[in-house]
Order: sequence, then C-alpha cells, then structure tokens
Amino acid sequence: MPTLKVCALYPELMNIYADRGNLLLLERRCAWRDIGFELVGAGIGDPVAQDADLLYLGGGQDRDQRLCAHDLAEAKRDAVHAAVDRGAVMLAVCGGLQLLGDSYELGDERVPGVGLVDLHTVRGDGPRLIGNVAIEVDLPEAAGIGGRRVLAGFENHGGRTRLGAAEQPLGRVLKGHGNDGQSGFEGVVRGNVIGTYLHGPLLPKNAWFADWLVARALGLDELPPLDDALEDAAHAAARRAAGV
Ligand code: GLN
Repeated sequence: MPTLKVCALYPELMNIYADRGNLLLLERRCAWRDIGFELVGAGIGDPVAQDADLLYLGGGQDRDQRLCAHDLAEAKRDAVHAAVDRGAVMLAVCGGLQLLGDSYELGDERVPGVGLVDLHTVRGDGPRLIGNVAIEVDLPEAAGIGGRRVLAGFENHGGRTRLGAAEQPLGRVLKGHGNDGQSGFEGVVRGNVIGTYLHGPLLPKNAWFADWLVARALGLDELPPLDDALEDAAHAAARRAAGV
C-alpha cells in the first residue's frame, strides 16, 4: 500500500478549534487500511515538503493568520504553487480558506494570500458568522466516492469571502451562512485545491470526505471499506445540529 505524505502549514498557529483533529483522522483512516502516513509541519521559515501528497492549512485568529500570511505569500508561495501544479491536494479551513486567495482586508490593512484561487475576503463591521452549517457538494468521483453529498460542520468567521467569477464554490449552503452570509456559496474548489469555512473539525464529522481526499491525493481507484458506525453517527449528529 502507498504512503500518504502530508505537510501541515503552520500547525501551531493555524489550529483553531483543534483543526489538528483533521490530521488525526487522516492518520487513523490510513492506518486502518495499511496505508502509510507521514506528517511534517512547515511553520514560519520552514520549507514546504516537496514530496507532499496533501497540504493542509487550518484556521486561525486574525492575529495568528496575519503572522503566517506574509511567510505564506512570500517565502512559501512558489513551493505551494509547485506542489499543487504537480497534483498535490490542498485542504484549507477557514482562515486557511481566506489565505488561499488574493488578500484578506482588515480595515486599512491588507493581509496577503497565496493566490491559488481568485477569492477576496473583507473583515466588515457586521457580526461574526457563527453556527452549525451544512452544505451540499458535488465532487468528481474518487475511489467510488463523489457526486452529491453533504458536508456538515461549524463556522465562526468575521471575514466575508467573495469568489471571482470563474471560481466554483465547494458547496451550496443548506443551513448556515457560508462564504459571506448572502451568496449561498460555501468554500471554493479548483481542481485539487479545496477551501471551506467548516470546522468541527471537518473530517471527523465527514469521514467520507477524508476518504475522498486520500483517494484523490494518492490517485487510488478503490479504498477498502471500514466499519464506519461511529463516523456515520458523528456525521448524523453534525447534520442534526445544523437542522438538515
Ligand atoms: N480570522 C478569520 C476570521 O475571523 C478566520 C477565523 C477562523 O479561522 N475561525 O474571519
């Protein structure tokens, strides 16, 4: 069986709501299937692992996000683009989603993004967008997983994100606020680059999506089935919490 190589960007700073749980879930599901798992972190000043199959960037407070943004947009930009160009999957959550784009405007300040997708985020004066959320996604198939499915989780962001005209949202909001509380869009997907506001953490509540990411990152046609009784219950509970 192959090995999933994961590079977590800024694991100490971008880890709000224990988004680290997403990495733990990937590790466990790989182990249960005899797929190897290697995790390296890349903090400020560290190189991006060039053999990574999956890049992961979690959420963060504005203050921590700001600290990472310049390193990401300047020192790591080329390496992140190169990894994606050679087929690595990138998953970015909340503050991570905001940093995928062009910039995050905080009043007069412009926090730069890594420019992988065309999106722009503004921290307006309005209330934070908080609550349980469910979205309907329609993903291309990987290892038999895909099509119309539901992702459920929790969102808490002050930033409002707008997608450029050519970008596709990750999903359609069923319950919750989504990117800006108005468009009905949630997240972004462009090829192997996926951004979402869903915390939860996301993957323990949506194990099917973790499997999709693994299959996609490793180019696998099938994944051995697992006993997902607990994972299915976690997904059902997250959907119930969102009222879907
Ligand atoms: N700092 C960002 C915002 O408030 C993202 C917060 C987060 O990652 N939960 O919009």
